[in-house]
Amino acid sequence: MSYIYSMLVKEFISETNRNQVISILLKHYKVESVKVKTKSMKDHAHFNVDTGTLELSTRYKTIKTSQVKSFLITILHEINHAMDAKTFGWKLFKEKYEMEMNLQIANGKDEYKDNKYEIQAEEFGQKMWKYWKTKFKKDGLM
Ligand SMILES: [Zn+2]
Repeated sequence: MSYIYSMLVKEFISETNRNQVISILLKHYKVESVKVKTKSMKDHAHFNVDTGTLELSTRYKTIKTSQVKSFLITILHEINHAMDAKTFGWKLFKEKYEMEMNLQIANGKDEYKDNKYEIQAEEFGQKMWKYWKTKFKKDGLM
């Protein structure tokens, strides 16, 4: 019994803990008005700037230990977009984002891969995920 229990604890993060992790992150980065919705999608996640909704792939409904890194990077990446949307206001951020896409296309580059907002959001995720993993582990959430 206890063996199976500890296996489960180690291999999965419960949905409750996952939700708590997300809510702690949103609060920390002062974007707590962002709503989170799980849906079936091709990408890992998407920040819908029109509705202020962080759409998260159903692949993260329950999180396996092996997914912790990609999950945290994904969430932090989208939070970074939400922070920009808050700073500029969603309308202006959307305009700035679209201008950046057009600029990259005009330069013969990739509208996402070379997009400065995407690069910034990805760097933010890559830089912060370990700090949060250590903290959430210490707090017993992971
Ligand atoms: Zn992005």
